[in-house]
Amino acid sequence: MLSIAGLAAGYGRKQILSGIDLEVRAGEIVVVLGANGAGKTTLLNAVSGMCRINAGRITFKGTDITAMRPDRIAAAGLSHCPEGRQIFQRLTVEENLVVAHVGRGGKSFETLREEAFALFPILRERRNSAASRLSGGQQQMLAIGRALMAEPDLVMLDEPSLGLAPKLITQIFQIVLDLAAAGISILLVEQNVRLALELGDYGYALESGRLRVEGGAQKLAADPRLAEVYLAGG
Ligand code: ATP
Repeated sequence: MLSIAGLAAGYGRKQILSGIDLEVRAGEIVVVLGANGAGKTTLLNAVSGMCRINAGRITFKGTDITAMRPDRIAAAGLSHCPEGRQIFQRLTVEENLVVAHVGRGGKSFETLREEAFALFPILRERRNSAASRLSGGQQQMLAIGRALMAEPDLVMLDEPSLGLAPKLITQIFQIVLDLAAAGISILLVEQNVRLALELGDYGYALESGRLRVEGGAQKLAADPRLAEVYLAGG
């Protein structure tokens, strides 16, 4: 589904990532771990065309997307749910869904909206509320609902559990599992290491912009090098 080979990327002249090789297979949940500043968000930005790529190749469903514009990458079926959610605060819940509908896979807006409301019933109740009036958890649900309006084959989620109460985290993670079960591949950046590795199939840990350790989720959870990644800091 997604394949990254020899990626080096950064912002302007500042190189953040180097030597990154990563694979996400169809329907798989792949987790990206690492301390603050390790480069996790930059990795997602590189995939979605939002930072400078200095070397390497990114392919999505067999197409080279390395030099593609962000809107084209999204239109190809790769949705990015950025850190901090970045929904339109002044628009209502429903309007946020409307603007995210790109008519990619042929489903009507109404069908996709109903699918999003089925996943997150609270969004139906709050459909006419301004996004700014939603709780943090509801905003996260809206951000995921919005990503799904593009009928993606792969969704990248950047710290969806950030700032949420444990009950809501469980709910969001259950949705992530449901999406994967429905065949959508997931690339998940998470600070919550234990939960993320319970949920995921495979994980990569970054340290200072490089891959330090990778492996099947269970194996990685037990790998002492994973703790070192966090002790070493960014
Ligand atoms: P966090 O969990 O804190 O978000 P992260 O692993 O996602 O951490 P990144 O946000 O990718 O890390 O940041 C990696 C490095 O890139 C940091 O040193 C950061 O200061 C730098 N950086 C991030 N965004 C920019 C930017 N727009 N311009 C220049 N440097 C940036």
